[in-house]
Amino acid sequence: MIIKPRIKGFLCTTAHPAGCELDVQQQIAHVESQDPLTNGPKKVLVIGASGGYGLATRISAAFGSGAATIGVFFERPAVKKRTASAGWYKSAAFTRLAQAAGLYATNINGDAFSAELKQATIDLIKKDLGKVDMVVYSLAAPARQLADGSVVKNTLKPIGEPFEGATVDFNTATLRPISLMPASEEEIAETVQVMGGDDWEQWIKELLAADVLADGCITTNYTYLGGEATWPIYYHGTIGRAKEDLDRAAKALAEPMAGINGNAYVAVMKGLLTQASSAIPGMAIYLSLLFKIMKEKGTHEGSIEQTTRLFTTRLFSGSALGDKAGDLDEQGRIRLDDWELRDEIQDFVKQRWSSVSDENLTEISDFEGYRAAFLQMHGFDFDGVDYELEVEQVVPMDVVEF
Ligand code: NAD
Repeated sequence: MIIKPRIKGFLCTTAHPAGCELDVQQQIAHVESQDPLTNGPKKVLVIGASGGYGLATRISAAFGSGAATIGVFFERPAVKKRTASAGWYKSAAFTRLAQAAGLYATNINGDAFSAELKQATIDLIKKDLGKVDMVVYSLAAPARQLADGSVVKNTLKPIGEPFEGATVDFNTATLRPISLMPASEEEIAETVQVMGGDDWEQWIKELLAADVLADGCITTNYTYLGGEATWPIYYHGTIGRAKEDLDRAAKALAEPMAGINGNAYVAVMKGLLTQASSAIPGMAIYLSLLFKIMKEKGTHEGSIEQTTRLFTTRLFSGSALGDKAGDLDEQGRIRLDDWELRDEIQDFVKQRWSSVSDENLTEISDFEGYRAAFLQMHGFDFDGVDYELEVEQVVPMDVVEF
């Protein structure tokens, strides 16, 4: 079929398999343009492996360090005339390209919060890899089903005070005001249950109990602090509360991980456009301003540039791990948001933040770049893909369905 983007609000309900494959190829090419890692991970489990930071980490591990990878995600295959999700196409492309390069790559598609999926992952590690030396937790989920069957939701709201902001309508490139009432205590608690550290802890404890973590294994989880402009909705909001809980979880995991000479790290990453961040109120304007100034300064990064820097200059740079005096902040976190938080970048954003309007949006910010990144996230808007051609929307993948 011929596939075009179909955009509703901040969602694109279609994805293009050829564009998604090109996206993965470009990420692989970026990793391969760097020196290979000599002391990187060799067997890696990535939970939340099909988009944004998780996929980029998987590519960095596989193509930068020759790692065997198991990817866990929740994606939709194509059904009749409905395309698969972008994460499905990208994972299928990654798996095919990794296997063609002689690397082990397999996938589990289902709910990572469930006990059954965790057990299936343990069984797969035991059968195929024995143990893993890195576990990346990069889940961003709208909701979580708890063990008793009840469902808790991830709500993006401010805490204490209402939030007045704006988002951008993709179809018209105009601003739409948003106002959000403060979250209730219940909404805060539920968001922490979905996006906090509890499930990461459960995963690591179960992997440890099953003896599938190798000596010296490290586990990482990603967080965001962001610039002041985003604090009312992010850092001081429900999601920020969940992210604080990651710091708690990393500390709680320190002792059990020390038992295998391992470590648990929270890494603070930069803001960029992913499925998850596109849902955050106000983020479209912040990121459009950020893209503008970071591109001008030559410091713009996407997820693959971030995970490359995480691997080559932090986690596997030879001295950083275990040498805590190295690059960790006072909370023990790895910082990759250093370029985003530079004064010259944040001053630019702050000065323009409240004066963005329909008239000046494309002039003072890089909304065009944001829009292109949004389309490319779904496999559209790539030079080198003919979007008028018929493509097969059903793309098979080596995956355990759950
Ligand atoms: P994303 O939306 O691109 O990816 C989320 C992943 O989680 C996908 O692989 C998806 O399939 C998977 N997933 C969702 N629900 C699942 C479930 N129930 N079971 C199994 N898999 C499930 O998100 P992202 O932006 O890359 O976020 C990953 C992490 O990085 C999050 O913790 C996020 O807060 C953090 N982070 C993001 C940014 C940013 O700007 N995007 C910045 C800093 C940190």
